[in-house]
Amino acid sequence: MNTAYKAYSCEFFPPKTDKGAEKLRTTLTELAKLKPAYFSVTFGAGGSTQEGTFDTVKEIQAKGYNAAPHLSCIGGNRDSIRELLNSYIEIGVKRIVALRGDMPSGMREMGDFRYANELVEFIRVETGDHFHIEVAAYPEIHPQAPSAKKDLENFVRKAKAGANAAITQYFYNPDAYYRFVDDCQKLDVDIPIIPGIMPITNHSNLKRFSDMCGAEIPRWIAKRLEGFADDRESIAAFGEEVVTELCNNLLDNGAPGLHFYTMNQTRPTKTLWQNLGLESD
Ligand code: FAD
Repeated sequence: MNTAYKAYSCEFFPPKTDKGAEKLRTTLTELAKLKPAYFSVTFGAGGSTQEGTFDTVKEIQAKGYNAAPHLSCIGGNRDSIRELLNSYIEIGVKRIVALRGDMPSGMREMGDFRYANELVEFIRVETGDHFHIEVAAYPEIHPQAPSAKKDLENFVRKAKAGANAAITQYFYNPDAYYRFVDDCQKLDVDIPIIPGIMPITNHSNLKRFSDMCGAEIPRWIAKRLEGFADDRESIAAFGEEVVTELCNNLLDNGAPGLHFYTMNQTRPTKTLWQNLGLESD
């Protein structure tokens, strides 16, 4: 892996209310002071937040920062994705996070793409090298994968289709990440694999997300969080300490940057960033 490359980035979700939009503007202003390489914006498969993604990306770009829309292909078709890619090119977007996404419940039509590697291929055919393409990686294995080996092979497919880099699902066990990176290198995949970092601020939300996306909360962390019950200050202080240590461990061992799942909040990401003394290349 090219360890000279370091990218520190932040992820937002598109706000659903005016109050949420105001909050995100404040968060953007605050986090922009840290000079992240880009702000990515999530995308709801099947239509739920797709316009919200475009509007949020447009606003970030208009303020002079780099935005990277997430684009999930499940349920989509070639024409609509081509149109969206062109709209992003028109507003100066240079990065994209290319995903399969998950079928929303009740939705039956698969659309023109089955897996993210097909989307990466399509973006390359349609737009050449215009976009820096990031894809998702799962050091603790994607929940639907039949085996770790198959999941790795499927990840390699995305890199070979033209992805420039990857962002991982969040994890609290760095060994899973190191093994994943080693396995990729053995298969001659040397794109930067950037750890996705989820700050710990709330036990029940973290547990719910982790159950959904297959991320493991180590037992000792879960037990401590349980012990804090509703004491938010103690959870935040413990979370800050654990996640700062995780990030330091990753960076000391060559991780090519960090991607923060901000949940549209300023404080957790800002605190970690400052604890780590980060600067992008
Ligand atoms: P894929 O890489 O297509 O993999 C999906 C599954 O299919 C895996 O089990 C894989 O092993 C298997 N597979 C892959 N390719 C093949 C193939 N060619 N043949 C057979 N099997 C295959 N979701 C959203 O809806 N919106 C977002 O904005 C969003 N952002 C995300 C950002 C990051 C950094 C991450 C890590 C995840 C994000 N997700 C998002 C969640 C993601 O959409 C889900 O995890 C989804 O289930 C898989 O998407 P993928 O792009 O990893 O899919």
